[in-house]
Amino acid sequence: MELKNYMEDIVWQSLEELLAAQPDVCKCQKCRYDIMALALNFLPPRYVVTEAGETFTRIKSLEQQFSVDVITAITNAIILVASRPHHYEEREA
Ligand SMILES: [Zn+2]
Repeated sequence: MELKNYMEDIVWQSLEELLAAQPDVCKCQKCRYDIMALALNFLPPRYVVTEAGETFTRIKSLEQQFSVDVITAITNAIILVASRPHHYEEREA
């Protein structure tokens, strides 16, 4: 059994799609994780108990239920991180 916040999966999936539409935004790992953390702090956690491999259909329905909130939270997080990125000390030029 596994305790899982599947809002994380939804945000991660939506983040990939939203970043793909933003060619000017840095997509390094540090910025992706910063955006993830910011967006998740604005969204309600959704914990479920799952068996391995069980969650996917439920994620799909929840994704539709929260999609506007998720997109808003991620978009705001992208704007924030893109305006003050924290990756410089860790990234090779
Ligand atoms: Zn970056």
